[in-house]
Amino acid sequence: MKTIQHWIDGKSVEGTSGRHGDVTNPATGERTGRVAFADVSEVDAAVESAAKAFASWGSVSLAKRAQVLFNYRELLNSHRDEIASLITAEHGKVHSDALGEVARGLEIVELACGIPQLLKGEISTQVSTRVDVESIRQPLGVVAGITPFNFPAMVPLWMFPLAIACGNTVVLKPSEKDPSATLRLVELASEAGVPDGVLNLVHGDKTAVDRLLEHPDVAAVSFVGSTPIAKHVHDTASANGKRVQALGGAKNHMLVLPDADLDQAADAAVSAAYGSAGERCMAVSVVVAVDPVGDELVSRIADRARALTIGPGTDPVSEMGPLITAAHRDKVASYVPKAREQGAEVVVDGTDLMVEGHENGFFVGVSLLDKVTPDMDAYRDEIFGPVLAVVRAASYEEAIGLINSSRWGNGTAIFTRDGGAARRFRLEVEAGMVGVNVPIPVPVGYHSFGGWKDSLFGDHHIYGTDGVHFYTRGKVITTRWPDPSDGGIDLGFPSNS
Ligand code: NAD
Repeated sequence: MKTIQHWIDGKSVEGTSGRHGDVTNPATGERTGRVAFADVSEVDAAVESAAKAFASWGSVSLAKRAQVLFNYRELLNSHRDEIASLITAEHGKVHSDALGEVARGLEIVELACGIPQLLKGEISTQVSTRVDVESIRQPLGVVAGITPFNFPAMVPLWMFPLAIACGNTVVLKPSEKDPSATLRLVELASEAGVPDGVLNLVHGDKTAVDRLLEHPDVAAVSFVGSTPIAKHVHDTASANGKRVQALGGAKNHMLVLPDADLDQAADAAVSAAYGSAGERCMAVSVVVAVDPVGDELVSRIADRARALTIGPGTDPVSEMGPLITAAHRDKVASYVPKAREQGAEVVVDGTDLMVEGHENGFFVGVSLLDKVTPDMDAYRDEIFGPVLAVVRAASYEEAIGLINSSRWGNGTAIFTRDGGAARRFRLEVEAGMVGVNVPIPVPVGYHSFGGWKDSLFGDHHIYGTDGVHFYTRGKVITTRWPDPSDGGIDLGFPSNS
Protein backbone atom coordinates (compact mmCIF):
# COMPACT_ATOMS: atom_id res chain seq x y z
CA MET A 1 0.00 0.00 0.00
CA LYS A 2 1.42 3.36 -1.01
CA THR A 3 1.79 6.45 1.18
CA ILE A 4 1.11 9.70 -0.63
CA GLN A 5 3.41 12.46 0.57
CA HIS A 6 3.64 16.24 0.33
CA TRP A 7 5.66 18.06 -2.34
CA ILE A 8 7.61 20.99 -0.93
CA ASP A 9 10.51 22.92 -2.43
CA GLY A 10 10.76 20.69 -5.49
CA LYS A 11 10.80 17.33 -3.75
CA SER A 12 8.67 14.72 -2.04
CA VAL A 13 8.52 15.39 1.70
CA GLU A 14 7.42 12.79 4.18
CA GLY A 15 4.55 13.83 6.44
CA THR A 16 5.57 14.31 10.07
CA SER A 17 2.24 15.07 11.75
CA GLY A 18 1.45 11.42 12.37
CA ARG A 19 -2.02 11.97 10.89
CA HIS A 20 -3.16 10.20 7.70
CA GLY A 21 -6.28 9.63 5.64
CA ASP A 22 -7.28 6.48 3.78
CA VAL A 23 -7.38 6.39 -0.01
CA THR A 24 -9.76 3.82 -1.45
CA ASN A 25 -10.55 2.33 -4.82
CA PRO A 26 -14.29 3.05 -5.08
CA ALA A 27 -14.83 0.24 -7.59
CA THR A 28 -13.61 -2.43 -5.17
CA GLY A 29 -13.93 -0.76 -1.78
CA GLU A 30 -10.29 -1.66 -1.08
CA ARG A 31 -7.97 0.68 0.74
CA THR A 32 -5.11 1.32 -1.69
CA GLY A 33 -3.09 3.92 0.11
CA ARG A 34 -2.85 6.43 2.84
CA VAL A 35 -2.26 10.11 2.46
CA ALA A 36 -0.25 12.25 4.87
CA PHE A 37 -2.24 15.04 6.56
CA ALA A 38 -0.24 18.23 7.05
CA ASP A 39 -0.16 20.06 10.32
CA VAL A 40 0.47 23.79 10.68
CA SER A 41 4.28 23.54 10.57
CA GLU A 42 4.18 21.54 7.31
CA VAL A 43 1.87 24.10 5.69
CA ASP A 44 4.20 26.83 6.93
CA ALA A 45 7.17 25.06 5.32
CA ALA A 46 5.33 24.98 1.97
CA VAL A 47 4.38 28.66 2.21
CA GLU A 48 7.95 29.57 3.18
CA SER A 49 9.30 27.72 0.16
CA ALA A 50 6.78 29.48 -2.10
CA ALA A 51 7.58 32.89 -0.60
CA LYS A 52 11.29 32.34 -1.15
CA ALA A 53 10.74 31.21 -4.73
CA PHE A 54 8.56 34.24 -5.47
CA ALA A 55 11.54 36.52 -4.98
CA SER A 56 13.00 35.24 -8.23
CA TRP A 57 10.04 33.69 -10.13
CA GLY A 58 8.06 36.93 -9.99
CA SER A 59 10.65 38.58 -12.21
CA VAL A 60 11.53 35.67 -14.54
CA SER A 61 10.99 36.80 -18.13
CA LEU A 62 7.69 36.14 -19.85
CA ALA A 63 9.56 34.24 -22.54
CA LYS A 64 11.05 31.86 -19.97
CA ARG A 65 7.74 31.37 -18.14
CA ALA A 66 5.97 30.61 -21.41
CA GLN A 67 8.71 28.15 -22.37
CA VAL A 68 8.28 26.21 -19.13
CA LEU A 69 4.51 26.07 -19.71
CA PHE A 70 5.00 24.83 -23.27
CA ASN A 71 7.25 22.06 -21.89
CA TYR A 72 4.58 21.26 -19.32
CA ARG A 73 1.88 21.11 -21.98
CA GLU A 74 3.90 18.50 -23.88
CA LEU A 75 4.67 16.43 -20.79
CA LEU A 76 1.09 16.47 -19.61
CA ASN A 77 -0.16 15.52 -23.02
CA SER A 78 2.14 12.52 -23.16
CA HIS A 79 1.10 11.45 -19.62
CA ARG A 80 -2.63 11.94 -20.07
CA ASP A 81 -3.38 8.23 -20.01
CA GLU A 82 -1.38 7.71 -16.82
CA ILE A 83 -3.13 10.62 -15.09
CA ALA A 84 -6.54 9.37 -16.22
CA SER A 85 -5.73 5.95 -14.74
CA LEU A 86 -4.80 7.54 -11.40
CA ILE A 87 -8.11 9.42 -11.42
CA THR A 88 -10.11 6.27 -12.17
CA ALA A 89 -8.29 4.32 -9.45
CA GLU A 90 -9.12 6.79 -6.68
CA HIS A 91 -12.20 8.67 -7.92
CA GLY A 92 -13.91 5.85 -9.80
CA LYS A 93 -15.04 7.71 -12.94
CA VAL A 94 -14.72 5.79 -16.21
CA HIS A 95 -11.40 6.09 -18.02
CA SER A 96 -12.81 7.98 -21.03
CA ASP A 97 -14.37 10.54 -18.69
CA ALA A 98 -11.07 10.88 -16.81
CA LEU A 99 -9.30 11.48 -20.13
CA GLY A 100 -11.87 14.19 -20.89
CA GLU A 101 -11.10 15.83 -17.55
CA VAL A 102 -7.37 15.89 -18.33
CA ALA A 103 -8.08 17.36 -21.78
CA ARG A 104 -10.17 20.17 -20.27
CA GLY A 105 -7.37 20.89 -17.77
CA LEU A 106 -4.81 20.96 -20.59
CA GLU A 107 -6.83 23.77 -22.16
CA ILE A 108 -5.85 26.02 -19.29
CA VAL A 109 -2.18 25.11 -19.64
CA GLU A 110 -2.50 26.07 -23.30
CA LEU A 111 -4.12 29.34 -22.28
CA ALA A 112 -1.25 29.97 -19.86
CA CYS A 113 1.29 29.36 -22.66
CA GLY A 114 -0.03 32.61 -24.16
CA ILE A 115 0.82 34.60 -21.03
CA PRO A 116 2.92 37.22 -22.87
CA GLN A 117 -0.18 38.19 -24.82
CA LEU A 118 -2.50 37.94 -21.79
CA LEU A 119 -0.37 40.21 -19.62
CA LYS A 120 0.08 43.00 -22.15
CA GLY A 121 -0.61 46.34 -20.49
CA GLU A 122 -2.08 49.54 -21.87
CA ILE A 123 -0.48 52.89 -22.52
CA SER A 124 -1.94 56.27 -23.32
CA THR A 125 0.58 58.78 -24.54
CA GLN A 126 0.32 62.55 -24.13
CA VAL A 127 -2.66 62.44 -21.70
CA SER A 128 -1.45 65.84 -20.66
CA THR A 129 1.43 67.79 -22.05
CA ARG A 130 4.44 65.41 -22.11
CA VAL A 131 2.62 63.00 -19.74
CA ASP A 132 2.06 59.30 -20.50
CA VAL A 133 -0.05 56.80 -18.49
CA GLU A 134 0.55 53.03 -18.40
CA SER A 135 -1.57 50.30 -16.81
CA ILE A 136 0.32 47.12 -15.97
CA ARG A 137 -0.51 43.99 -13.99
CA GLN A 138 1.85 42.33 -11.52
CA PRO A 139 1.79 39.05 -9.60
CA LEU A 140 0.42 38.83 -6.06
CA GLY A 141 2.99 36.57 -4.38
CA VAL A 142 2.04 33.22 -2.81
CA VAL A 143 -1.40 31.95 -3.78
CA ALA A 144 -3.21 28.90 -2.40
CA GLY A 145 -5.39 26.47 -4.35
CA ILE A 146 -7.83 24.21 -2.48
CA THR A 147 -9.62 21.66 -4.61
CA PRO A 148 -12.50 19.10 -4.47
CA PHE A 149 -12.50 15.36 -5.06
CA ASN A 150 -14.60 15.32 -8.20
CA PHE A 151 -12.00 16.72 -10.62
CA PRO A 152 -8.61 15.88 -9.10
CA ALA A 153 -6.77 16.94 -12.27
CA MET A 154 -8.96 19.52 -14.02
CA VAL A 155 -9.72 21.80 -11.08
CA PRO A 156 -6.08 22.14 -9.91
CA LEU A 157 -5.24 22.83 -13.58
CA TRP A 158 -7.84 25.64 -13.56
CA MET A 159 -5.63 27.30 -10.95
CA PHE A 160 -1.89 26.75 -10.86
CA PRO A 161 -0.82 27.04 -14.54
CA LEU A 162 -2.30 30.53 -14.82
CA ALA A 163 -1.17 31.54 -11.33
CA ILE A 164 2.40 30.52 -12.16
CA ALA A 165 2.27 32.04 -15.63
CA CYS A 166 1.31 35.36 -14.01
CA GLY A 167 4.47 35.16 -11.86
CA ASN A 168 3.01 33.87 -8.58
CA THR A 169 4.09 30.87 -6.57
CA VAL A 170 1.56 28.31 -5.38
CA VAL A 171 0.64 26.02 -2.50
CA LEU A 172 -1.99 23.44 -3.52
CA LYS A 173 -4.17 21.48 -1.09
CA PRO A 174 -5.99 18.84 -3.14
CA SER A 175 -8.84 16.65 -1.96
CA GLU A 176 -7.69 14.03 0.53
CA LYS A 177 -10.01 11.48 -1.11
CA ASP A 178 -8.14 11.15 -4.43
CA PRO A 179 -4.80 12.94 -4.12
CA SER A 180 -2.53 10.90 -6.43
CA ALA A 181 -3.49 12.51 -9.76
CA THR A 182 -2.90 16.03 -8.38
CA LEU A 183 0.46 15.01 -6.96
CA ARG A 184 1.47 13.60 -10.35
CA LEU A 185 0.54 16.91 -12.02
CA VAL A 186 2.90 18.68 -9.64
CA GLU A 187 5.76 16.21 -10.18
CA LEU A 188 5.42 16.67 -13.94
CA ALA A 189 5.50 20.45 -13.55
CA SER A 190 8.83 20.09 -11.80
CA GLU A 191 10.08 17.86 -14.62
CA ALA A 192 8.94 20.50 -17.12
CA GLY A 193 11.20 23.09 -15.50
CA VAL A 194 8.98 24.80 -12.92
CA PRO A 195 11.67 25.85 -10.38
CA ASP A 196 11.76 24.41 -6.85
CA GLY A 197 9.34 26.18 -4.53
CA VAL A 198 7.21 27.68 -7.30
CA LEU A 199 4.61 24.90 -7.02
CA ASN A 200 4.15 23.11 -3.68
CA LEU A 201 1.52 20.65 -2.54
CA VAL A 202 0.38 19.75 0.96
CA HIS A 203 -2.24 17.11 1.63
CA GLY A 204 -4.66 17.26 4.46
CA ASP A 205 -7.93 18.34 5.96
CA LYS A 206 -9.37 21.37 7.72
CA THR A 207 -6.13 21.92 9.68
CA ALA A 208 -4.15 22.48 6.47
CA VAL A 209 -6.89 24.53 4.80
CA ASP A 210 -7.43 26.81 7.77
CA ARG A 211 -3.71 27.47 8.10
CA LEU A 212 -3.59 28.55 4.44
CA LEU A 213 -6.57 30.86 5.04
CA GLU A 214 -4.82 32.53 7.96
CA HIS A 215 -1.17 32.50 6.90
CA PRO A 216 0.11 36.09 6.61
CA ASP A 217 2.27 35.25 3.57
CA VAL A 218 -0.63 33.87 1.46
CA ALA A 219 -1.92 36.68 -0.73
CA ALA A 220 -4.85 34.97 -2.43
CA VAL A 221 -6.94 31.82 -2.22
CA SER A 222 -8.69 29.94 -5.02
CA PHE A 223 -11.17 27.38 -3.73
CA VAL A 224 -13.52 24.94 -5.44
CA GLY A 225 -15.81 22.68 -3.40
CA SER A 226 -19.14 22.56 -1.61
CA THR A 227 -21.12 25.70 -0.71
CA PRO A 228 -20.71 25.62 3.09
CA ILE A 229 -16.92 25.22 2.83
CA ALA A 230 -16.72 27.80 0.02
CA LYS A 231 -18.44 30.28 2.31
CA HIS A 232 -16.13 29.42 5.21
CA VAL A 233 -13.09 29.83 2.94
CA HIS A 234 -14.36 33.11 1.55
CA ASP A 235 -15.24 34.62 4.92
CA THR A 236 -12.09 33.48 6.72
CA ALA A 237 -9.63 34.38 3.98
CA SER A 238 -11.33 37.74 3.38
CA ALA A 239 -11.24 38.52 7.08
CA ASN A 240 -7.50 37.85 6.89
CA GLY A 241 -7.10 40.38 4.09
CA LYS A 242 -6.71 37.94 1.22
CA ARG A 243 -8.17 38.01 -2.26
CA VAL A 244 -10.56 35.05 -2.60
CA GLN A 245 -12.48 33.23 -5.29
CA ALA A 246 -14.50 30.41 -3.74
CA LEU A 247 -16.61 28.31 -6.09
CA GLY A 248 -19.36 26.31 -4.40
CA GLY A 249 -22.03 23.74 -5.11
CA ALA A 250 -24.87 23.67 -7.58
CA LYS A 251 -28.29 22.42 -8.57
CA ASN A 252 -28.40 22.90 -12.31
CA HIS A 253 -31.74 23.09 -14.10
CA MET A 254 -32.36 22.13 -17.72
CA LEU A 255 -35.51 23.73 -19.14
CA VAL A 256 -37.22 21.81 -21.97
CA LEU A 257 -39.79 23.70 -24.02
CA PRO A 258 -42.51 21.78 -25.93
CA ASP A 259 -40.93 22.60 -29.31
CA ALA A 260 -37.56 21.01 -28.39
CA ASP A 261 -36.18 18.00 -30.23
CA LEU A 262 -37.14 15.48 -27.53
CA ASP A 263 -34.62 12.82 -28.47
CA GLN A 264 -31.84 15.37 -28.33
CA ALA A 265 -33.15 16.70 -25.01
CA ALA A 266 -33.43 13.18 -23.53
CA ASP A 267 -29.88 12.31 -24.67
CA ALA A 268 -28.60 15.52 -23.15
CA ALA A 269 -30.45 15.05 -19.85
CA VAL A 270 -29.15 11.48 -19.43
CA SER A 271 -25.56 12.41 -20.33
CA ALA A 272 -25.49 15.45 -18.08
CA ALA A 273 -27.34 13.88 -15.13
CA TYR A 274 -25.58 10.53 -14.95
CA GLY A 275 -22.12 11.25 -16.45
CA SER A 276 -19.42 10.84 -13.80
CA ALA A 277 -22.22 9.37 -11.61
CA GLY A 278 -23.67 12.86 -11.19
CA GLU A 279 -20.57 13.98 -9.28
CA ARG A 280 -20.08 17.10 -11.37
CA CYS A 281 -20.80 20.67 -10.33
CA MET A 282 -22.20 21.20 -13.84
CA ALA A 283 -24.35 18.04 -13.77
CA VAL A 284 -27.98 18.55 -14.69
CA SER A 285 -29.90 17.50 -11.58
CA VAL A 286 -33.30 19.00 -12.42
CA VAL A 287 -35.19 18.87 -15.70
CA VAL A 288 -38.01 21.39 -15.91
CA ALA A 289 -40.48 20.08 -18.48
CA VAL A 290 -42.93 22.65 -19.78
CA ASP A 291 -46.43 21.25 -20.50
CA PRO A 292 -47.37 19.23 -22.43
CA VAL A 293 -43.95 17.70 -23.00
CA GLY A 294 -43.48 16.01 -19.58
CA ASP A 295 -44.87 12.49 -20.10
CA GLU A 296 -43.09 11.93 -23.39
CA LEU A 297 -39.81 13.40 -22.18
CA VAL A 298 -39.82 11.35 -18.97
CA SER A 299 -40.51 8.17 -20.92
CA ARG A 300 -37.58 8.84 -23.30
CA ILE A 301 -35.21 9.69 -20.44
CA ALA A 302 -36.31 6.53 -18.57
CA ASP A 303 -35.66 4.27 -21.58
CA ARG A 304 -32.16 5.63 -21.93
CA ALA A 305 -31.45 5.57 -18.17
CA ARG A 306 -32.43 1.88 -17.89
CA ALA A 307 -30.03 0.99 -20.73
CA LEU A 308 -26.89 2.47 -19.13
CA THR A 309 -24.02 0.15 -18.30
CA ILE A 310 -22.67 0.65 -14.81
CA GLY A 311 -19.42 -0.92 -13.70
CA PRO A 312 -15.79 -0.27 -12.81
CA GLY A 313 -14.20 2.69 -14.56
CA THR A 314 -11.41 0.47 -15.86
CA ASP A 315 -13.86 -1.62 -17.94
CA PRO A 316 -14.22 0.03 -21.37
CA VAL A 317 -17.91 -0.95 -21.59
CA SER A 318 -18.82 0.91 -18.38
CA GLU A 319 -20.58 4.20 -18.98
CA MET A 320 -20.82 5.12 -15.30
CA GLY A 321 -18.62 4.14 -12.37
CA PRO A 322 -19.10 4.08 -8.59
CA LEU A 323 -19.49 6.99 -6.17
CA ILE A 324 -16.56 8.30 -4.16
CA THR A 325 -17.29 6.65 -0.78
CA ALA A 326 -19.74 4.17 0.74
CA ALA A 327 -21.13 6.93 2.97
CA HIS A 328 -21.78 9.19 0.00
CA ARG A 329 -23.38 6.30 -1.94
CA ASP A 330 -25.74 5.62 0.98
CA LYS A 331 -26.64 9.28 1.31
CA VAL A 332 -27.37 9.60 -2.42
CA ALA A 333 -29.51 6.45 -2.37
CA SER A 334 -31.52 7.71 0.62
CA TYR A 335 -33.01 10.51 -1.48
CA VAL A 336 -35.00 8.05 -3.60
CA PRO A 337 -37.29 6.49 -0.91
CA LYS A 338 -37.53 9.92 0.73
CA ALA A 339 -38.76 11.44 -2.54
CA ARG A 340 -41.35 8.64 -2.86
CA GLU A 341 -42.59 9.34 0.67
CA GLN A 342 -42.77 13.04 -0.11
CA GLY A 343 -44.99 12.41 -3.16
CA ALA A 344 -42.65 12.08 -6.16
CA GLU A 345 -43.06 9.28 -8.71
CA VAL A 346 -39.99 7.04 -8.80
CA VAL A 347 -39.81 6.13 -12.48
CA VAL A 348 -36.39 4.45 -12.33
CA ASP A 349 -35.04 3.20 -9.00
CA GLY A 350 -31.35 2.37 -9.09
CA THR A 351 -30.80 2.03 -5.38
CA ASP A 352 -30.48 -1.74 -5.21
CA LEU A 353 -27.90 -2.15 -7.99
CA MET A 354 -25.21 -4.74 -7.41
CA VAL A 355 -22.26 -4.98 -9.81
CA GLU A 356 -21.15 -8.58 -10.16
CA GLY A 357 -17.60 -9.16 -8.97
CA HIS A 358 -17.59 -5.71 -7.33
CA GLU A 359 -19.97 -6.29 -4.44
CA ASN A 360 -17.86 -4.13 -2.12
CA GLY A 361 -17.63 -1.24 -4.59
CA PHE A 362 -19.52 1.99 -3.93
CA PHE A 363 -21.98 1.55 -6.77
CA VAL A 364 -25.49 2.86 -7.04
CA GLY A 365 -27.70 2.70 -10.12
CA VAL A 366 -29.30 5.69 -11.78
CA SER A 367 -32.64 6.99 -10.53
CA LEU A 368 -35.29 9.14 -12.18
CA LEU A 369 -37.85 11.00 -10.08
CA ASP A 370 -40.90 12.60 -11.73
CA LYS A 371 -43.40 15.19 -10.51
CA VAL A 372 -40.89 16.52 -8.02
CA THR A 373 -41.89 19.76 -6.29
CA PRO A 374 -39.66 22.47 -4.80
CA ASP A 375 -40.49 21.52 -1.21
CA MET A 376 -39.02 18.01 -1.55
CA ASP A 377 -35.50 17.20 -0.26
CA ALA A 378 -34.54 15.77 -3.65
CA TYR A 379 -35.17 19.20 -5.14
CA ARG A 380 -33.76 21.34 -2.35
CA ASP A 381 -30.43 19.60 -1.74
CA GLU A 382 -27.39 19.15 -3.94
CA ILE A 383 -27.46 15.33 -4.06
CA PHE A 384 -24.23 15.01 -6.08
CA GLY A 385 -25.12 11.58 -7.41
CA PRO A 386 -27.03 9.91 -10.27
CA VAL A 387 -30.51 11.05 -9.24
CA LEU A 388 -32.39 13.18 -11.76
CA ALA A 389 -35.51 15.09 -10.68
CA VAL A 390 -38.15 16.17 -13.20
CA VAL A 391 -40.35 19.12 -12.27
CA ARG A 392 -43.42 19.88 -14.37
CA ALA A 393 -44.17 23.52 -15.25
CA ALA A 394 -47.22 24.99 -16.99
CA SER A 395 -45.35 27.72 -18.86
CA TYR A 396 -41.96 29.25 -19.67
CA GLU A 397 -42.68 31.93 -17.05
CA GLU A 398 -43.29 29.37 -14.32
CA ALA A 399 -40.15 27.46 -15.33
CA ILE A 400 -37.84 30.46 -15.27
CA GLY A 401 -39.38 31.65 -12.01
CA LEU A 402 -38.47 28.29 -10.49
CA ILE A 403 -34.90 28.37 -11.81
CA ASN A 404 -34.35 31.93 -10.63
CA SER A 405 -35.64 31.18 -7.15
CA SER A 406 -32.89 28.58 -6.61
CA ARG A 407 -30.22 29.50 -4.09
CA TRP A 408 -27.63 28.30 -6.58
CA GLY A 409 -26.77 29.72 -9.98
CA ASN A 410 -23.91 27.69 -11.40
CA GLY A 411 -25.07 26.42 -14.80
CA THR A 412 -28.36 26.04 -16.63
CA ALA A 413 -29.61 25.15 -20.10
CA ILE A 414 -32.62 25.57 -22.33
CA PHE A 415 -33.68 23.10 -25.00
CA THR A 416 -35.83 24.64 -27.73
CA ARG A 417 -36.00 25.37 -31.45
CA ASP A 418 -37.39 28.84 -30.74
CA GLY A 419 -34.68 31.51 -31.07
CA GLY A 420 -36.85 34.14 -29.39
CA ALA A 421 -37.44 31.98 -26.32
CA ALA A 422 -33.75 31.11 -26.15
CA ARG A 423 -32.87 34.79 -26.35
CA ARG A 424 -35.21 35.64 -23.46
CA PHE A 425 -33.73 32.81 -21.42
CA ARG A 426 -30.14 33.95 -22.01
CA LEU A 427 -31.00 37.41 -20.74
CA GLU A 428 -33.39 36.52 -17.92
CA VAL A 429 -31.86 33.47 -16.28
CA GLU A 430 -29.85 33.97 -13.09
CA ALA A 431 -26.83 31.70 -13.54
CA GLY A 432 -23.20 32.18 -14.47
CA MET A 433 -23.04 29.64 -17.30
CA VAL A 434 -25.88 29.16 -19.73
CA GLY A 435 -26.35 26.56 -22.46
CA VAL A 436 -28.68 26.82 -25.42
CA ASN A 437 -29.22 23.22 -26.51
CA VAL A 438 -25.95 22.48 -24.67
CA PRO A 439 -26.47 20.64 -21.37
CA ILE A 440 -23.11 21.18 -19.62
CA PRO A 441 -21.96 24.62 -20.72
CA VAL A 442 -18.44 24.52 -19.23
CA PRO A 443 -16.70 27.46 -20.89
CA VAL A 444 -13.58 26.98 -23.00
CA GLY A 445 -10.30 28.03 -21.41
CA TYR A 446 -10.24 31.54 -22.87
CA HIS A 447 -13.62 32.41 -21.37
CA SER A 448 -14.10 32.26 -17.60
CA PHE A 449 -15.92 29.68 -15.45
CA GLY A 450 -18.08 30.59 -12.49
CA GLY A 451 -21.55 30.64 -11.03
CA TRP A 452 -23.79 33.17 -9.34
CA LYS A 453 -25.42 33.27 -5.90
CA ASP A 454 -24.38 30.41 -3.56
CA SER A 455 -22.30 28.86 -6.35
CA LEU A 456 -19.52 31.43 -6.06
CA PHE A 457 -18.27 33.72 -3.31
CA GLY A 458 -15.89 36.42 -4.49
CA ASP A 459 -15.67 38.76 -7.44
CA HIS A 460 -13.72 36.80 -9.99
CA HIS A 461 -14.68 33.74 -11.98
CA ILE A 462 -11.92 31.21 -12.58
CA TYR A 463 -9.49 30.93 -15.57
CA GLY A 464 -9.87 32.98 -18.79
CA THR A 465 -9.52 36.76 -18.45
CA ASP A 466 -10.95 36.70 -14.92
CA GLY A 467 -8.24 34.21 -13.95
CA VAL A 468 -5.49 36.54 -15.17
CA HIS A 469 -7.08 39.41 -13.26
CA PHE A 470 -7.48 37.32 -10.12
CA TYR A 471 -3.81 36.32 -10.08
CA THR A 472 -2.47 39.83 -10.72
CA ARG A 473 -2.99 43.32 -9.37
CA GLY A 474 -3.15 46.47 -11.41
CA LYS A 475 -0.75 49.35 -11.28
CA VAL A 476 -1.10 52.62 -13.14
CA ILE A 477 2.01 54.67 -13.80
CA THR A 478 1.88 58.33 -14.77
CA THR A 479 5.15 59.60 -16.25
CA ARG A 480 6.48 62.95 -17.28
CA TRP A 481 9.97 63.40 -18.64
CA PRO A 482 10.24 67.10 -18.33
CA ASP A 483 11.41 69.34 -21.05
CA PRO A 484 14.30 71.47 -19.78
CA SER A 485 11.98 74.46 -20.00
CA ASP A 486 9.38 72.91 -17.55
CA GLY A 487 9.29 73.99 -13.94
CA GLY A 488 7.42 75.86 -11.26
CA ILE A 489 5.27 74.97 -8.25
CA ASP A 490 1.49 74.43 -8.57
CA LEU A 491 -0.55 73.53 -5.45
CA GLY A 492 -3.78 72.91 -7.45
CA PHE A 493 -5.15 69.37 -8.00
CA PRO A 494 -3.53 67.83 -11.08
CA SER A 495 -5.67 68.46 -14.15
CA ASN A 496 -4.87 67.61 -17.70
CA SER A 497 -4.12 70.18 -20.31
P1 NAD B 1 -15.70 19.79 -0.06
O1 NAD B 1 -16.20 21.18 0.13
O2 NAD B 1 -16.05 18.77 0.93
O3 NAD B 1 -14.08 19.81 -0.13
C1 NAD B 1 -13.38 20.71 -0.94
C2 NAD B 1 -12.02 21.00 -0.29
O4 NAD B 1 -12.23 21.60 0.98
C3 NAD B 1 -11.20 19.74 -0.05
O5 NAD B 1 -9.86 20.02 -0.36
C4 NAD B 1 -11.40 19.47 1.43
O6 NAD B 1 -10.29 18.84 2.04
C5 NAD B 1 -11.60 20.86 2.01
N1 NAD B 1 -12.48 20.85 3.19
C6 NAD B 1 -13.49 19.99 3.46
N2 NAD B 1 -14.08 20.31 4.62
C7 NAD B 1 -13.43 21.39 5.11
C8 NAD B 1 -13.59 22.19 6.28
N3 NAD B 1 -14.54 21.94 7.19
N4 NAD B 1 -12.76 23.25 6.45
C9 NAD B 1 -11.80 23.53 5.55
N5 NAD B 1 -11.62 22.79 4.41
C10 NAD B 1 -12.41 21.74 4.20
O7 NAD B 1 -16.13 19.36 -1.53
P2 NAD B 1 -15.98 17.92 -2.22
O8 NAD B 1 -16.96 16.99 -1.61
O9 NAD B 1 -14.57 17.53 -2.30
O10 NAD B 1 -16.46 18.28 -3.72
C11 NAD B 1 -17.80 18.28 -4.12
C12 NAD B 1 -18.39 19.66 -4.06
O11 NAD B 1 -17.63 20.57 -4.84
C13 NAD B 1 -19.81 19.72 -4.64
O12 NAD B 1 -20.59 20.56 -3.82
C14 NAD B 1 -19.61 20.34 -6.02
O13 NAD B 1 -20.73 21.02 -6.54
C15 NAD B 1 -18.49 21.29 -5.72
N6 NAD B 1 -17.78 21.65 -6.95
C16 NAD B 1 -17.99 22.90 -7.44
C17 NAD B 1 -17.38 23.27 -8.60
C18 NAD B 1 -17.59 24.65 -9.19
O14 NAD B 1 -16.91 24.97 -10.13
N7 NAD B 1 -18.50 25.45 -8.67
C19 NAD B 1 -16.54 22.36 -9.28
C20 NAD B 1 -16.33 21.10 -8.73
C21 NAD B 1 -16.97 20.76 -7.55
